[in-house]
Amino acid sequence: MKKLKVALLGCGNVGSQVARILLDDAAVLAERTGAELELAGIAVRNLEAPRDVELPAGLFTTDAEALVDSADIVIELMGGLEPAASLIRRAIDGGATVVTGNKALLAKDLPGLAARANEAGVQLSYEAAVAGAIPILRPIRDSLAGDRITKVMGIVNGTTNYILDAMDTTGAAFDDALTKAKELGYAEADPTADIEGHDAASKAAILATLSFHAPFDLDDVDCEGITSVTAEDVAAAREQGMVIKLLAIAERLGNGSGTEGVGVRVHPTLIPRVHPLAAVHGAFNAVFVEADNAGELMFYGQGAGGRPTASAVVGDVVSAARRVVLGGPGRTEATVGQVKALPIDAVRTSYSIGLQVSDKTGVLAKIAKIFTDHKVSIETMRQSPEDVEGDAPGSASLRFVTHRGSEAALAATVADIKELSVVTAVTSVLRVEGN
Ligand code: NAP
Repeated sequence: MKKLKVALLGCGNVGSQVARILLDDAAVLAERTGAELELAGIAVRNLEAPRDVELPAGLFTTDAEALVDSADIVIELMGGLEPAASLIRRAIDGGATVVTGNKALLAKDLPGLAARANEAGVQLSYEAAVAGAIPILRPIRDSLAGDRITKVMGIVNGTTNYILDAMDTTGAAFDDALTKAKELGYAEADPTADIEGHDAASKAAILATLSFHAPFDLDDVDCEGITSVTAEDVAAAREQGMVIKLLAIAERLGNGSGTEGVGVRVHPTLIPRVHPLAAVHGAFNAVFVEADNAGELMFYGQGAGGRPTASAVVGDVVSAARRVVLGGPGRTEATVGQVKALPIDAVRTSYSIGLQVSDKTGVLAKIAKIFTDHKVSIETMRQSPEDVEGDAPGSASLRFVTHRGSEAALAATVADIKELSVVTAVTSVLRVEGN
């Protein structure tokens, strides 16, 4: 049986579990692959650092370059941009197959790395980079290769889903839900990348690139996190039969004159409680895909964690190793660059707008005129009962949900409403999807 040397770069949460699977399940993996996968070494920074899994000390090295040069398959699980990027390029140029879970790097240069791998005739696989254990990239790349994807909408960050779900189920304020998430290990000590939406934005760029066969990077993603979502927003959503989720959305947009583009965005979003994504609780992830022929599909599972993510990594290793055994070129990425990223102004969505207004006659007429002026139609309007807790005396709370309109018109409507003297505060503006 053919022997393939595997180099593992990184032995943290995910790397240690990948090493465990490669060693413990070596016989089964060899059977499924048609080649023996020999873990040739593990590159780390600190040889003395404690590991989650007991592994033979002789496997560890700090010389990542030498390890890469000796390998048929390189698994990069160090994270960060450098030295990960240089090591991946080195592996590709040396003819090795590469598997990585490095979303930060891929969101910056997936098209560049994929082109390099294509040129070298090697494979670059990265299932673990989006939604951890969930098989989502391979279905988009392979299973849906004969279809035309129109929209991808996902809960791709477990930390923020845990926080929003806790706010929804317990009525907790954002800060309290975040503290709880940290206590339980769902949020890091510095949760910025998660709660500001940056992690989800990286995944949105990768999903968009694969779904629309064109290069998208982090700069193409309009990103808004969840830090301004209040307990009142969550309660109001509940009253409307909705729930707030942080969604990564990439969708095909047409402007009616034949120009096509793709809008890529991450923001807290109201979705109806009957939508399949509303049933995604805790730190779980799910991605909802719409395609011309397949229709609606949903992929659900654990979006992070050492063991679940290692499952996706080893799946990529087996798949890539089979190709090495069979011979032939690497898997080609069809990034033909025909559609470009459009600014969020081009998106069509609907808004839920919360207002605090003076409780006087004529207020509604003034607000309604602004909607009409911007050609935005109102789907529903609710006025809170008088003496709502938190309302100033003589004031009332209003919540409008609009029909779909252009983001530009909706944003201009909110800007004009803010200027009305009868409007004390715009308490929340959230986009609505799936309605
Ligand atoms: P981690 O726990 O921080 O582990 C990183 C590992 O890389 C450590 O073993 C570290 O060595 C090693 N390393 C870092 N810089 C190095 C360098 N310059 N030279 C040699 N070794 C270096 O990270 P992780 O959570 O396993 O994540 C790994 C990758 O998977 C990241 O790209 C991440 O985004 C991605 N990912 C993670 C998850 C998850 O649930 N954790 C989910 C999906 C994707 P030392 O141990 O010696 O410090």
